[in-house]
Amino acid sequence: MQRVLVVGGGCTGACAAMLLRKKLGPDASIEIWEKARGFGGRMTTTRQDVAGETVRADVGAQYLSADLSDPTSKELIDMLLTRKVVAEVGGEKGPGAKGLCSTPERQSGGSWHHFAGLEGGVNSALKCLADQAQATAYFEKRVASMDPVAGGKWRVRPFTGAPETFDAVLFAVPGCGVGGDNIDKIHGGWENLIDEECNRQLRSPQHDHRHAVVLFLAPEHLQACEAFFGPSNIEAQIDDDMVHLLAYQSRKTACIGGPVSKSPVVVVHTTHEFSRRNQRAGGRDRPFLEAVAGRVVHEYLKIPKGVRLDNIVLGSKVITWKQCQITRSMKGPAAFPLCKPLSDDPPLVLAGDYFTNSSFTGCAMSAANAVSALSSMLKGEKIANAVATASSAKRPADSDDGGYGKGQGKGKDSKGGKGKGKKGGKAEQGYRERY
Ligand SMILES: Cc1cc2nc3c(=O)[nH]c(=O)nc-3n(C[C@H](O)[C@H](O)[C@H](O)COP(=O)(O)OP(=O)(O)OC[C@H]3O[C@@H](n4cnc5c(N)ncnc54)[C@H](O)[C@@H]3O)c2cc1C
Repeated sequence: MQRVLVVGGGCTGACAAMLLRKKLGPDASIEIWEKARGFGGRMTTTRQDVAGETVRADVGAQYLSADLSDPTSKELIDMLLTRKVVAEVGGEKGPGAKGLCSTPERQSGGSWHHFAGLEGGVNSALKCLADQAQATAYFEKRVASMDPVAGGKWRVRPFTGAPETFDAVLFAVPGCGVGGDNIDKIHGGWENLIDEECNRQLRSPQHDHRHAVVLFLAPEHLQACEAFFGPSNIEAQIDDDMVHLLAYQSRKTACIGGPVSKSPVVVVHTTHEFSRRNQRAGGRDRPFLEAVAGRVVHEYLKIPKGVRLDNIVLGSKVITWKQCQITRSMKGPAAFPLCKPLSDDPPLVLAGDYFTNSSFTGCAMSAANAVSALSSMLKGEKIANAVATASSAKRPADSDDGGYGKGQGKGKDSKGGKGKGKKGGKAEQGYRERY
């Protein structure tokens, strides 16, 4: 029985699991190791008990944005629609909501459609994909290192627990760069596959930087939200010196047929510039939270200043998205341009939105390309033209050295790579620095 590991339970990992099942058939064992407590990554959803009810908010992506002219996206979205996990927002067929803003990072027009979670948030769509794939997901299981071992397998070591061996691995974690948890933080012999040119390519993608701040408001402020957003909008694009976008999360959920909450929920996405100036601010930074909440509550929702902020905002969540959305992607090799096959034996492929664009379709297309490469390699085809040899394994790293974003972990920036290897050096020479 083939054992395949998908590292990362975000959108790319969940799509990859589903596509792997289709390619490899019912007998393959597919595991997902995710460092957080559930599926999501940048499609994460938070829940809080507010005023006697449990309310939820999407803290990263507000939608699964899909280009339905892409066959993989269409197939996966159709499955999610059939299972009533998501519903379309703002489309001709969508019930209710209008008023999606045309922000620069949002794909729109043509065959792009936007879908939101019905009973759960956007992350419930990822859980559904993994369930349909009959993949076994392990949470709070973060890969520390990975080494090739005799017999053409990968030995993968989590931070806690025993190492395990797999026939093939797909890394669905973000690429290199400053901040966030990405492939820079997975150590071991696989790093020897990265030569100077590959290292340069992996460092070329760029992300923007944003904070997402969820404000769970007291029920008596529902009218203030209704007045601000008007009769049917679910977003407002602000772009002042702090706030980029306000998403009326509770209306978004209700108008597609999801649960209706008494307590209004507003999600704030800050501007890139404000985020750059407040790079160190995170969930425990009270002045940061108060500045953002105060701006939204008093200036936009027009709730009078006489009421204490604590009595208006009953719950909150801040995530610092250091690697938020892709502003410059990278290309894989000509035969597999939307992923990076790194080793034929044992097979290893990198996938993620950093090969495409930051959307559901960007992830689905990269996952499809990576799964196609991985399944060919499992049949013995030479795609990466590199073999990870057991003798090249380095000592695994020992310590937990970073977090995903300040809202979710410890957070520590990684550094840019400096060349140790020779230009065009062989894969076995090893190139990457340790972070
Ligand atoms: C603020 C914001 C707004 C957005 N808006 C939209 C939108 O409206 N529509 C849309 O379609 N997209 C949107 N996006 C983009 C979308 O969220 C991303 O493109 C997508 O979620 C990327 O998925 P991924 O799986 O490639 O990466 P990620 O979501 O980053 O997933 C990677 C996963 O790997 C895990 N991981 C990392 N290291 C390890 C390790 N060592 N071991 C185990 N697990 C590990 C992480 O915890 C994470 O869950 C938005 C993103 C943000 C941040």
